[in-house]
Amino acid sequence: MIKLGRHISIAGSMEFAFDRAEDDGCSAMQIFVTNPRSWSMSAMDPGTAGKFSDRSERSSVSEVIAHMPYLPNLSSSDKRIYDRSIKSLKGNLERCDLLGISHLVTHMGSHMGMGTQKALSNISEALSQVADVAPGVMVLLENEAGHNNSVGADLKEMAEVRDRVGGERVGFCLDTCHAFAMGYDIGDADALERIDSEMGLDKIRAVHVNDAMMPLGSRRDRHANIGTGYIGIERFRKFFSHGDIRSKILILETPLSEKISEKEEIAEVRRLLS
Ligand SMILES: [Zn+2]
Ligand SMILES: [Zn+2]
Repeated sequence: MIKLGRHISIAGSMEFAFDRAEDDGCSAMQIFVTNPRSWSMSAMDPGTAGKFSDRSERSSVSEVIAHMPYLPNLSSSDKRIYDRSIKSLKGNLERCDLLGISHLVTHMGSHMGMGTQKALSNISEALSQVADVAPGVMVLLENEAGHNNSVGADLKEMAEVRDRVGGERVGFCLDTCHAFAMGYDIGDADALERIDSEMGLDKIRAVHVNDAMMPLGSRRDRHANIGTGYIGIERFRKFFSHGDIRSKILILETPLSEKISEKEEIAEVRRLLS
């Protein structure tokens, strides 16, 4: 069974995401479980988890993953931001647990000029601090496009954090646009081999399937609709022909387009997978 879908809005009420995902022909989806643009996290309405699980049980969407909000920076050396980020991670893990979501994607953040090594120990320490919070939820570190001060554009940095934290708490989410921006020619056998040797394809649980608006190695994070960017249909076809990739949770985070509806885009990727 192919687990394919996109990032879906939870506007109105969390369980509405299932309706939207089903309308788009998704068998998987990614959602935010808190307000993505805010630090504040009020207690979840007591009925929400129940409604979400009930809806989940009668949905064709079989895989749901969550994405951390934008503000936290687990790599920060600023104590105030760091502590708030850990609190947010905790809150998001707890919510995932309540909602029955088993994977939470997070960016590794920015070292803000303090250097990569310091950042890697900060984020490893943060993940270790929450070891006992919702241990059934796996944290998926996402690779970055390589903009200034970003942590985790180099896949080896992601592997280092996983090793430092230990156990099975940490897995990976590979974003194709970000990897392409860092010079990994998605679809090329050598690039896949390099990804495998640097982070281990078996540690990747989810793939963000995004085409790239900028050329290979641009270090720019600009998503394009599938087939309209520099990665293009043929590279995606080769990428998906790899058995290890097809079995992952595949999530599109592509822009809304006048040329192709969300439903058509999912259908297009499904054809590439078949
Ligand atoms: Zn992504
Ligand atoms: Zn991106």
